[in-house]
Amino acid sequence: MKTRTTTQQVHILQYLRQKHSHPCAEAIHKEVVKQLPTITLATVYRNLNKLVEQEDIISFKVGNTYHYDGKVGDHIHGICENTGKIVDIEQPELVQYVRKKIHHHGFTPKNIRIIVTGTCKRGETQ
Ligand SMILES: [Zn+2]
Repeated sequence: MKTRTTTQQVHILQYLRQKHSHPCAEAIHKEVVKQLPTITLATVYRNLNKLVEQEDIISFKVGNTYHYDGKVGDHIHGICENTGKIVDIEQPELVQYVRKKIHHHGFTPKNIRIIVTGTCKRGETQ
C-alpha cells in the first residue's frame, strides 16, 4: 500500500536512483545530510525501511550490512569478495529462465534476487 512520501524519502530515493554503488545506510546518511542537515542516521534507517516496504527500493544483506538499491527491476548482483564492490549484472534472459523454472515448481515468484560472489577486475590482483 502506498503511503505519503516525505521530503526525507524523496531525497533518499533521488540519491539511490542516481547512485548505482548499492550504498549502506551510513553512506546514504553521509550524502543526504548535506541537503537535510538535521536528519539522523536512525531517521535514514526508518525511511529506508519504509521505501523497501513500498517497493520503491530493494535491500539485501552482505555479511552484517544491508545495502540499498534504487533499481527495483530483476537484476543480478555481483559482489567482489576482495574489494566488497557490488555491481549490477544485466542478464534478463537468465532471470526469465529462473522465473520460468521456479513456476514449474508450483511456486509463483515475486522478486528474483540473485547474488553472485567472486572477484572483480581490481579484486583479482589483490
Ligand atoms: Zn543493483
